[in-house]
Amino acid sequence: MTLDLQTNDLSQVIEADRAHVWHHLSQHKAYESIDPRVFVEGKGMRLWDATGKEFLDGVSGGVWTVNVGYGRESIANAVRDQLIKLNYYAGAAGTVPGALFAQRLIEKMPGLSRVYYSNSGSEANEKAYKMVRQISHHKYGGKKWKILYRDRDYHGTTLGTLATSGQDQRAMQYGPYPDGFVRVPHCLEYHKQWDVENYGERAADAIEEVILREGPDTVGAIVLEPVTAGGGVITPPEGYWQRVQEICRRYDILLHIDEVVCGLGRTGTWFGYQQYGIEPDFVTMAKGVASGYAAISCTVTTERVFDMFKDSPDDTLSYFRDISTFGGCTAGPVAALENMRIIEDEGLLENTIAMGNRLMDNLTTLMDKHAVIGDVRGKGLFCGAELVQDRATKEPMDEKRVQAVVADCLAQGVIIGATNRSIPGFNNTLCLSPALIAGPDDIDALTTAIDNALSKVFA
Ligand code: PMP
Repeated sequence: MTLDLQTNDLSQVIEADRAHVWHHLSQHKAYESIDPRVFVEGKGMRLWDATGKEFLDGVSGGVWTVNVGYGRESIANAVRDQLIKLNYYAGAAGTVPGALFAQRLIEKMPGLSRVYYSNSGSEANEKAYKMVRQISHHKYGGKKWKILYRDRDYHGTTLGTLATSGQDQRAMQYGPYPDGFVRVPHCLEYHKQWDVENYGERAADAIEEVILREGPDTVGAIVLEPVTAGGGVITPPEGYWQRVQEICRRYDILLHIDEVVCGLGRTGTWFGYQQYGIEPDFVTMAKGVASGYAAISCTVTTERVFDMFKDSPDDTLSYFRDISTFGGCTAGPVAALENMRIIEDEGLLENTIAMGNRLMDNLTTLMDKHAVIGDVRGKGLFCGAELVQDRATKEPMDEKRVQAVVADCLAQGVIIGATNRSIPGFNNTLCLSPALIAGPDDIDALTTAIDNALSKVFA
């Protein structure tokens, strides 16, 4: 039977999915006993699946993406109008939405001035890595080619970005990897690596130790998430970022902030780095840029970096020799313009701070009742609750029981997340990242579901 988009026979759609779709990050063995979930419709904070079940979405499309919520007709209309007018031209030329979105974005990012378009977070990061490598050839005779990355951070799924995966399990079995990517320790104070008072500064000094070990003249850049997402919702300790910035300046190391998750409002400011007084050389972003209404990512940098490409001794090399075919689609920047207008006009940054505080308060209150919650962390509408076997030893809760909490919430009609499955030591933090439009009732419904689930799973 041939299905069309208007079909009411959703059981056939589920069968087509089971037969032909290879789902991301999924063990398909599971679909021998359960149906794959197929979503049909979304509105605001809510989703409906092919069985007709309704869900409150606590993770903005599964991976902290749909910042302005589902069903935004104004974005759909803006994209439709633009596609009829001009859908595409390769990025060697400009388009009206491309120029306008770059201008609007740069207004929010003092100190930065150039936007390079592509389609995914991985690509945006990979572009920055390539820029660093080219600078190393242009400016430093091939030196300063190494890129540092941090334990527990994640920057994407391509071979280049997997070489900077601070999550070993993600990178296993896809090697060998390119050389020149060097790991530094994470800064999660809950799992202390150093017994000191000024933990933030100590964790930053650990980066300096790696730079000195490798040789400062070999290190070109460091890539860091402002708040680590899938690696455990890690908010930086006091004093961390200031020291990281000082170290980068001291050794002339470019600071690349990966805002793929935090970008466009998730933490309550346009970008996460803006909460910590950081002055980055590269900022990459993807998920929230157009809230999943179109594929778009950006690698944003300074005029200083941009200028380094103009004056290579070899004229045939004096430009960034990179392209992204679909970086020339107009749907991305036009959706991004409307996404940004919505965030501004609806006061969603302010809402994110207010609702983020409510979410943190609710989660903190749950700690009194549930001893399995070892720690709660968060910034804006980006929160995590780490589950442990024992608060004294902080031994991680086993993955099966963490997933049982997620599954119980799902059965209650509430979607929450957990940090990356199958990564020992990383897979025990419940994640909440609702759309920035969430109201008090939505926040309370999320934490009530978690309360119920914890009571049941750990009865
Ligand atoms: N950086 C971070 C911090 C991410 O969380 C992700 C995706 N989860 C990426 C980069 C990669 O983005 P994409 O999947 O769009 O390639």
